[in-house]
Amino acid sequence: MTNDNMPLQKTDLHASLKKYFGFSNFKGLQEDVISNILQGNDTFAIMPTGGGKSLCYQLPALIQEGTAIVVSPLIALMKNQVDAIRGISSHHGIAHVLNSSLTKSEVKQVKQDISDGITKLLYVAPESLTKDDYVDFLKSVKLSFIAVDEAHCISEWGHDFRPEYRNLRSIVDRLDPTMAIIALTATATPKVQEDILKNLGIPKAKTFKASFNRPNLYYEVRPKTADVDSDIIRFVKKNAGKSGIIYCLSRKRVEQLAQILQVNGVSAVPYHAGFDAKTRSKYQDMFLMEDVDVVIATIAFGMGIDKPDVRFVIHNDIPKSIESYYQETGRAGRDGGEGHCLAFYAYKDIEKLEKFISN
Ligand code: ADP
Ligand code: MG
Repeated sequence: MTNDNMPLQKTDLHASLKKYFGFSNFKGLQEDVISNILQGNDTFAIMPTGGGKSLCYQLPALIQEGTAIVVSPLIALMKNQVDAIRGISSHHGIAHVLNSSLTKSEVKQVKQDISDGITKLLYVAPESLTKDDYVDFLKSVKLSFIAVDEAHCISEWGHDFRPEYRNLRSIVDRLDPTMAIIALTATATPKVQEDILKNLGIPKAKTFKASFNRPNLYYEVRPKTADVDSDIIRFVKKNAGKSGIIYCLSRKRVEQLAQILQVNGVSAVPYHAGFDAKTRSKYQDMFLMEDVDVVIATIAFGMGIDKPDVRFVIHNDIPKSIESYYQETGRAGRDGGEGHCLAFYAYKDIEKLEKFISN
């Protein structure tokens, strides 16, 4: 354990990285971000998808006294991370999710682990933090900092606006107005960044912005013709055995293309928000566990998907914005290996998209 206000020595930080995560080197700006957090400063980290943002708050949480609150927009994201952290510790209670799906006795256990100083990371959805019971409890325990992951959800200018994210400042004020806030996002537009700092009330936060250049990604645009199906089949077959995601604008097209690929011998599953949660998580797991090579999906698929070896991302339709194109293609090559991003473009898709967006 370290003194709260004493920054760790560089060597200690590397030792902790190795000890907890097994990595020998920090990626990009991780070390600078982590040092800043350990000094108790408000911090804003803008790093591309796959840049290693989670570790920026996980490592300081693990080595500091108290519990870090991690705000995250999706239950699936939280579960993923909690499982991963539990995997590196002998204490099941080292990480917990606190949400409305827990039973009374589960909540009691979570609170006990926090009070006992066992829990280093507490994942919560922003709406859970509005519960008086939780706030009163969290006020009474030792907290290290609050991390706001996917912080662009705060901004109406962002692509995943979540109104509950806008209450975070007042919650922090209730918990401990002096607590350091760490915001993290992959969204680089100045408007969204401004909104995040303003809304979280951390105008002086030190901002760390990584390079968004992903040299391992290869971008290609092809004209979309009547032969697009066979173009896609050919591409996927040439990349047989590799993991890939194919994005389509409509659910109908997702199902159609999935069928076309399946009858052509490609192991593929469809994914869109029209399937029930059980089916969705089944298909998602099949992809993650490599029971299938390809997911054909709407943009409902992907946020927080941490499959490092996705080798291609195809856009059957042109995406809604450059920002979303960047996010979606950013799911390729997260391990630093090859990632082929292929987009099919037809002018009439732009018209379709305009109609789709205005609806
Ligand atoms: P982000 O949230 O920025 O999209 P993640 O936190 O999900 O990225 O991390 C992406 C991947 O990078 C994960 O598989 C993670 O284990 C890996 N990673 C993070 N930090 C390091 C590191 N220092 N060395 C090697 N791999 C790392
Ligand atoms: Mg992340």
